[in-house]
Amino acid sequence: MNQSVGILAVQGDFELHAKMLERIGAPWKLVKHASDLEGVGGLIMPGGESTTMLKFFVNEGLGPALNEFASQGKPVFGTCAGAILLAKEVLNPPQESLGLLDVGIERNAYGRQIDSSVRRGDCPELADRPVEMVFIRAPIIRRVGDGVRVVGTCDGVPVLVEQGNILAATFHPELTEDESVHRYFLKKMSH
Ligand code: GLN
Repeated sequence: MNQSVGILAVQGDFELHAKMLERIGAPWKLVKHASDLEGVGGLIMPGGESTTMLKFFVNEGLGPALNEFASQGKPVFGTCAGAILLAKEVLNPPQESLGLLDVGIERNAYGRQIDSSVRRGDCPELADRPVEMVFIRAPIIRRVGDGVRVVGTCDGVPVLVEQGNILAATFHPELTEDESVHRYFLKKMSH
């Protein structure tokens, strides 16, 4: 693969995605401005605070640049806050988003008591064993649109979904040793 994976680096845990790609041996590049998308073949939008990232989208003109990037068919992978930013419909409270993924997603949906948890889920196409999943003030996907495929579930809810070139996880695959989700995304980039 010659094109780098861009990692949106305006806020959140982008460095851990870089570490994961480093481990896999995939070239990566941090994306802070629209111009950084040059030469990037796919983009990871990390977890963090979606509200804070949204402000950067407006201030840096990143929103239209990301929409343009995705409309070229280049793969985009959002984790947690990144998934919220990709969703068409955001609840609790409603907020703006890129609207690239036809799901309804509820922010902080596991309740205040459960700030974070480690669970086991299933992604049968990616791994034939349970996948360790770290949830941090995580959202829950409440509605899955017709064109959206559920790739992973945990406790009966969709946690990894895909619509064409868009992939979204409500958990943090960069926080475990398990490379399978990142490898799956890299495969999308090489298609
Ligand atoms: N609660 C955050 C939000 O609503 C997401 C948390 C995360 O990315 N780990 O944006």
